[in-house]
This record gives sequence, structure tokens and C-alpha cells, in this order.
Amino acid sequence: MYQIGHFIDGKQVAGTSGRKQPVFNPATGEIQAEVSLASEAELNAAVASAQAAQPKWAAANPQRRARVFMKFVQLLNDNMNELAEILSREHGKTIEDAKGDIVRGLEVCEFVIGAPHLMKSEFSEGAGPGIDMYSIRQAVGVGAGITPFNFPAMIPMWMFAPAIACGNAFILKPSERDPSVPIRLAELMIEAGLPAGILNVVNGDKSAVDGILAHPGIGAISFVGSTPIARYVYGMAAMNGKRAQCFGGAKNHMIIMPDADLDQAANALMGAGYGSAGERCMAISVAVPVGKETADRLIEKLTPMVESLRIGPYTDDKADMGPVITKEAKARILGLIDKGVEEGAKLVVDGRAFQLQGYENGNFIGGCLFDDVTPDMDIYKQEIFGPVLSVVRAKTYEEAIDLPMKHEYGNGVAIYTRDGDAARDFASRINIGMVGINVPIPVPLAYHSFGGWKSSSFGDLNQHGTDSFKFWTRTKTVTSRWPSGIKDGAEFVMPTMK
Ligand code: NAD
Repeated sequence: MYQIGHFIDGKQVAGTSGRKQPVFNPATGEIQAEVSLASEAELNAAVASAQAAQPKWAAANPQRRARVFMKFVQLLNDNMNELAEILSREHGKTIEDAKGDIVRGLEVCEFVIGAPHLMKSEFSEGAGPGIDMYSIRQAVGVGAGITPFNFPAMIPMWMFAPAIACGNAFILKPSERDPSVPIRLAELMIEAGLPAGILNVVNGDKSAVDGILAHPGIGAISFVGSTPIARYVYGMAAMNGKRAQCFGGAKNHMIIMPDADLDQAANALMGAGYGSAGERCMAISVAVPVGKETADRLIEKLTPMVESLRIGPYTDDKADMGPVITKEAKARILGLIDKGVEEGAKLVVDGRAFQLQGYENGNFIGGCLFDDVTPDMDIYKQEIFGPVLSVVRAKTYEEAIDLPMKHEYGNGVAIYTRDGDAARDFASRINIGMVGINVPIPVPLAYHSFGGWKSSSFGDLNQHGTDSFKFWTRTKTVTSRWPSGIKDGAEFVMPTMK
């Protein structure tokens, strides 16, 4: 069993709070590590280190800051296999999927290499007689990121890469369920040339999060996780005068029009519904076929595909998906499936009793497929976050689009069709942040921004893309006058451009 502490002031340190939590291997159910949960003193030490290092880092030429990321990207590639192994061992997702998790973060690091360009601001010459006006973007100071278990590499990098490239120091509070990758990322950042103190990793639970929310030394907070906690973090951060962007849960629909290529749609649903055991905030969890014939044909195609999903530990390189994160998550998902059956949905493929030989204590659940789900059912309203796809039948396109429009969540949505008119109308009217047209998981690339609408997001600036450079900097506007040839004398009226 290994011990996981924190990463403070450029090095790994053991936890001193005396509070610890087990880290399980999701495939076997065994405790493989213990993670220390930070005390207030440990958080304070991390913030003090960040505050001491930040001014010099912010004053460094932005190109010099970008070069750390050039080297870091190279180190991520060099260490890809090791990182993926650590990630899969604690999260349970397949090795190839873990590499996808790392590469999506790596791409954000590539994007922030453009920081010297992205931080450029505006200049107005001659805004008045002898007056020039310009705005500059300056780092907030010390920023913090609080991340979920499902992307232990990508989401920390969504946050710390732009924050650090902008000249901030950063405190990362990763998920306590799979905390090893973030520590390794911090080590690699130091190896890439980052000064000590600029990236600190503080492991912990609610008490570390509350410490971050209250700490006067932290100016901006980025959060990704479930909606109740996102709402809480957003409210507390705002009350304490910090800027915040908080991203929450999801219930992503895919509408399948009668003219869609059904083989393509079924394949897309398999990957987007069951990849990573459904533990993705952009997973498709609701399929909405339009018309009875589309629905019947879709169920006919999906049923054998779901039944033949290959489920295994991350060491099985042929597995389509692995276990869910914890025993509690498994129990919650099974409870929701039972509820769906009680509520009258038709469980076409029942994976509840799935057992993997040799891994009987693992958190495996077989793929589940529900038909005849209706909007009043709990399995429709709640985010299940497991390998469960619900089919809600719609008679018309209008009935279909109405479903995601009225749903509480607004993260992602997709439509499968060959009709450009329908696709265009859908993209224009839908009240959801990320839209796929014949693309099941429309996760924007690093140079665009990621964010949902409605209860999937609180705050007004998204992750990565140019938004991230706005979130992690403050604008300062300078008005300067060099008064050669301008008459002096006090002016008591508000200066205007007469
Ligand atoms: P979670 O909300 O349980 O945990 C997220 C973070 O909040 C963790 O670091 C955790 O330690 C902390 N936390 C947990 N309970 C807390 C509390 N009571 N007070 C303060 N902090 C607390 O989420 P999770 O289970 O780790 O992740 C899954 C959720 O994240 C899903 O709902 C998923 O949709 C969502 N998610 C959203 C996005 C997105 O971009 N919208 C991306 C990935 C995951």
C-alpha cells in the first residue's frame, strides 16, 4: 500500500493532519493506497508558497512561461505509459481511455504555449489631446482548482495550464478518489522548469475545499464536479469576493432522426453511452429516436451490442469499459436501475447481475439499456453516471427537441440526421452549451471553450479557449497623458469628448 501526501513548494510532502482516506482499486475492490486529507495549516503552507513565488513568475516574459509548457508537453508524451498506468489503476478506465484523458489535457497545454499572443491587449492612441488609453491583462494572483474523479489528468490541466501561463500561482485540490496523477503532473511541471511554489497540489475533502473558499490569499476558483457542489462552491466563492467558474452534472441527449444513418448512430451511442462506464460528463445517457420505426430499429441494433460489451479491468487491453469508481457509486447506480424498473421502464438489457470471474469484489456493472423511459421517471431526471442508456421515444422532431430543452441540465446534446435544415434549426434553438451534429460527444478542442448551460454551469466564462485567458487575468485600463503643449489648470467638470 502506498501513501499519497501533497505537493507543496516544489516537492512531495507527507500529510501531517492525521486524517487519511483509502484509495481503492476499482477493479478488485482492494485498498491500494491512503491519501492524506489536508489540514488548514497545510493549505496555508501551500498558499504561502504560492504567494511568495507568484510575483516573480508573473513578471517573467510570457514567452519564458510558455516555454515551460513546451517542455511539459514533451514530458507528458515521454511519460505517457506511466501516467496512463497510474491513472487507470486508481480510476479503473482502460489504458487507451486514460491516454485520451491525458492527451485532452496535453492539448490545453499546447494551446497555452500561445500565451504571449493570447495575453496581448488593446491600445488607443490619441484618446484625447496627448492622451493614450490602454488595457493590460494581469494575473489574478493565486488561483485554485477543485476537480472531480472522472478525468484526473485532463481537468486539472484545463485549469492549471492557462492559470499558470497567465502568470498565476495555483493550488490544485484533486479528487480524493484518484489523487496520484495530479501529483505526478506537478512533478513533471517542475522538471519542465516551473519554479517551486507556482503549482501546489493539496489533497483533501470538503474541509480543504472550505479552506480554499475562505482563504483571503486565493482570488479565483475553478470547480468541476457534481451540480450540488458546483452551486455551493459558486455561492461561497461569490460571497467571499472571489471570481468563480463552476461546472456541474449533465444528462446529455442524442436525437436520432428517421433519416439518420442508424448504424452510425448505434455505434456512436455505444461509445458515448458506455465508454468509461458512462462516467463522463459528456456521456450520452438519453437516446431519443424520432418515430416508432426508428425506435424499433435502434433498439434492435443496440440490444446485441450492449449485451456483447467487453467489460474488464484496465489490464485487459481488449476491454470496452472498466468498473465504476467505488462501491457506493455502484450501489447508487444499481438503485437507480431498480427504480427505473419499478417506475415502468422496460429494461431491455439488464447488466445488474454482471460478475467478472476473478474480480468478484470489483465495482463492475454490465451495460444496461432501458426502453420506454418517460420524462417523469427518476432515471430520466437524474444523472446516473454509469453504463446505463435510456431510450425515450418521441413521435416528432418537436417532441424530441422539447426533451433536452426542458431538462434541468444543459451540458451537451447531439442530433443524428442527414437533413441540413433540421440540424441547423436544432443547433440554433437548443438551450445547451455544446452541440454535436452527427458527433456524439461534442467536447470542444482546446482552442475553443468548454462549458454547459442551465444547471451544468455557474459563472460566465468557460474552460480553455480564449475564455480561460479572461478568467485567469484581470483587466487594468490605463489612461496616460504626456502634457507637452497642454494648458494646465484645474477642471471641475466631468471630462468628456466635446
Ligand atoms: P463531486 O462533486 O463529488 O466532487 C468534485 C470535487 O468536489 C472533489 O474534489 C471533491 O473532493 C469535492 N467535494 C465533494 N463533496 C464536497 C462537499 N460537500 N463540499 C465541498 N467539496 C466537495 O464530483 P465527482 O463525483 O468527483 O465527479 C462526478 C461529477 O462531476 C458528475 O456529476 C459529472 O457530471 C461532473 N463533471 C462535470 C464536468 C463538466 O465539465 N461539466 C466534467 C467532469 C465531471
